[in-house]
Amino acid sequence: MQVFQNNLAWRGAYFGLKYSQMPSFEERQRRKAVKDSLKAAEAGGIRESLPITPQQMKSLFNFVDEQLSDSECDHSLRHTIAFLESQGISPEPVVAWLQNAGGYCDCEVILNAEEKFDSALPSNP
Ligand SMILES: [Zn+2]
Repeated sequence: MQVFQNNLAWRGAYFGLKYSQMPSFEERQRRKAVKDSLKAAEAGGIRESLPITPQQMKSLFNFVDEQLSDSECDHSLRHTIAFLESQGISPEPVVAWLQNAGGYCDCEVILNAEEKFDSALPSNP
């Protein structure tokens, strides 16, 4: 019996909460709607919190990505800041946004902040 329970617990953890119970179709639809609206609100919050336009963010990520393909990240935001300054953009609010998204150096900007940005703007070309 103990083994059986452990196995169930393991399966529950493995398949995730939504498979550990069998909610009705309506309940699943309701949960999905709640989840979608939370996701949309979060994405909207990220979009609204952007200190520069999504296009400028894209250009920033592309620039930093290119720079890092030529040289290793030196664990600073030098490429990020160089790009912003070259565009006449004040770096401080952008750096604050990037750090809030987990981007504390150029490679983390690509790894963490770009991912967060993309999750908020999946349809952005
Ligand atoms: Zn780095």
